[in-house]
Amino acid sequence: MNMMKAVVKPGPQPGLELTQRPIPEVGPGEVLVKVRAASICGTDLHIYNWDAWAQSRIRPPVIVGHEVCGDVVARGAMVTEPQIGDFVSLESHVICNICQYCRTGRGHICENTRLIGVDRDGGFAEYITIAAQNAWKQPADLPVEIAALQENFGNAVHTAFAADVTAKKVLVTGCGPVGVMAIMVAKAAGARVIYASDVSDYRLNMARAAGADLALNPRRDDVVAMVRQATDGEGVDVLLEMSGAVTAIDQGFTLLKPGGEAALLGVSPGPFTFDWNHHIIFKGARVYGITGRRLWETWYQSRGLVRSGAVNLAPLITHRFKLEEYDKAFETMASGQSGKVVLFP
Ligand code: NAD
Ligand code: ZN
Repeated sequence: MNMMKAVVKPGPQPGLELTQRPIPEVGPGEVLVKVRAASICGTDLHIYNWDAWAQSRIRPPVIVGHEVCGDVVARGAMVTEPQIGDFVSLESHVICNICQYCRTGRGHICENTRLIGVDRDGGFAEYITIAAQNAWKQPADLPVEIAALQENFGNAVHTAFAADVTAKKVLVTGCGPVGVMAIMVAKAAGARVIYASDVSDYRLNMARAAGADLALNPRRDDVVAMVRQATDGEGVDVLLEMSGAVTAIDQGFTLLKPGGEAALLGVSPGPFTFDWNHHIIFKGARVYGITGRRLWETWYQSRGLVRSGAVNLAPLITHRFKLEEYDKAFETMASGQSGKVVLFP
């Protein structure tokens, strides 16, 4: 049996392990992808740390990693596209195509979604098999780090395009990689002005470089007062919530104008107290919960933004490691002093 390197969650405890696994067999409707790069996501950090969410969702042993790109090296029965040799980014949500959500064009909320690197083996490995439709063909000359990042970029595109940001005042709360990419997308879509908040100065600098006009640290700045003042007391038309932090959510909705739109991606630590009446009802606010990427509309939008040069994702990639250095890579990611961290098998 041919073996490959893989980073796995071996059992129900913190940490990961580099091990040898059989190269997976390609099934009907699937492709085998030789991984070229895979980036680390906040979700991977939860899995690494083995927090409450990870304990409830992950059934070890599982190969982690869901932001992946690589080359198609084998195809199962009934696959028409992509071709062997194609360079592809992977959509991480493997959907059923037959549930009521898939059948109504809403595969991103498929009730049978299986997420690679979470519900089944992922891409921190030399090879991965995946449904052929999840392999999104990329130009051969797209840098591999950018190709790996497309899954995560899609979260930002999905969120920023859920609201109408053009010529609007936009607030982005949380400037992790996804928040920073949302700033880039809002800018590309013609937002009039972009305010941003984060508790990390490293990330606020990334936000400024991405196009934020005013980047504030709630540990130091009165975010509500300063954005109010900057908007002549009005507040913002659009909130893009990318932190999941309860105080940021409250500040964001406090600053949202009546009739405004809020697109929410950040995952909160759990249920929390929220001023329903003032934040949503009497404001007549429109609120969108965002999960994953629209299949496949978001992928077309992302491709348009990247290929046209409307967004430049390169500055977001701050660290590169070999797969064997996964511990160092996760440490870097956990430090908060990084953009995207990419692993190379
Ligand atoms: P991240 O953890 O790197 O970014 C979150 C940022 O929020 C950090 O930079 C952090 O410093 C900042 N933050 C913390 N407290 C804050 C506060 N009080 N005010 C402002 N900022 C604060 O995560 P990411 O990878 O950029 O993803 C962003 C969020 O989206 C996370 O919550 C993640 O879990 C979630 N997410 C959701 C989906 C989905 O499908 N819904 C997909 C990907 C990520
Ligand atoms: Zn489905």
